[in-house]
Amino acid sequence: MTRSTHALINWSHLRHNYGIAKQLADGEAYAVIKANGYGHGLVACASALSEADGFAVACVDEALALRKAGIQRPILVLQGAYDSEEWQQASEHNLKLVVHHRHQLEQAAAAKLKHKVVCFLKVNSGMNRVGFHLAEVDSTLAYAESLGQIEFECVMSHFATADEPDSPAFKQQLHYMAQRPWHLPFSLCNSAAIFRPRLVEGEFLSDAISRPGIMLYGSSPLQDKNATELGLKPVMSLRAELISIHAMAQGESIGYGGTWQASRETQVGVVAIGYGDGYPRHAPNGTPVWVSGAICPLIGRVSMDMITVDLTDHPNAQIGDTVELWGEHVDVDQVAKLCGTIGYELFCQITPRVRRLAASSEQA
Ligand SMILES: *Cc1c(COP(=O)(O)O)cnc(C)c1O
Repeated sequence: MTRSTHALINWSHLRHNYGIAKQLADGEAYAVIKANGYGHGLVACASALSEADGFAVACVDEALALRKAGIQRPILVLQGAYDSEEWQQASEHNLKLVVHHRHQLEQAAAAKLKHKVVCFLKVNSGMNRVGFHLAEVDSTLAYAESLGQIEFECVMSHFATADEPDSPAFKQQLHYMAQRPWHLPFSLCNSAAIFRPRLVEGEFLSDAISRPGIMLYGSSPLQDKNATELGLKPVMSLRAELISIHAMAQGESIGYGGTWQASRETQVGVVAIGYGDGYPRHAPNGTPVWVSGAICPLIGRVSMDMITVDLTDHPNAQIGDTVELWGEHVDVDQVAKLCGTIGYELFCQITPRVRRLAASSEQA
């Protein structure tokens, strides 16, 4: 028998969540499936979302993996090409590239491109990571035009604080984008921005191609609303098995560092999952763990291959019972918050040791 620790993936929930993104988006929605589909599987996500308007990934390598798997929808590469060879590959495999820096255009000039490459011009509207300032836009477009092989489809930007309610910085970024007339349509919204009003002095900034990511996986992109309130359904259920139950006397402590001490006689449950599977080592005492129908608090430090939970108030639990760390019964965002992180990181940290299984008989 193999270790039962696994991530159960509900593909119909992924499609449901994409439907919500599509409903709220002004135009098309490219499903963001970078970083192995936020840990859910790159090709598997693309296959499950075969009706999506397109996909977005971080790098050309990820895009090529999709093409190799036979995915033919539009694919946008969010960091664009890293060198001339990648421009070549984008041209051969019909990938759309973000252009965020002049050196990328110089690399395009050095490549011998057979076909035109469709590009998104990235504007730095205030996040200050990548992108052109407004003052550089005209000269950049003119230079790209002079190369002859680049066709801009959208002007794109990315928000730093759309997750915060009533964020002034978010409004400033919208203002920045509205400052000049554009002859190109916008691609502005990540998941959080899709849920926010995009009005600048009464004018609506309409998005031609939105880029929803985290919401597709059923984690809330907003600080002020949980996933259920937004109608999102959890896609991944991280599961493991109860492998031991034993009693611990009052006053004894448990796990590395003995960081939790029993204030009463305690029934301890041991679960076959740890940080070696991607369960966060920083999960504190009291983090909710679902054990065959009841929420039981985590006690003691998370080890590499095991965690311990308090089963005292759940006397029916038995060895072999199913445990859920997050998913249908435990909100991933609640676990993330307790660990001082975000759902994105918990999903991405799942290690290869954890098998990914489809939730129902339906095919991805
Ligand atoms: C990752 C990413 C997204 C998706 O963001 P979410 O917060 O997951 O919706 C959108 N746009 C860009 C440029 C990204 O890098």
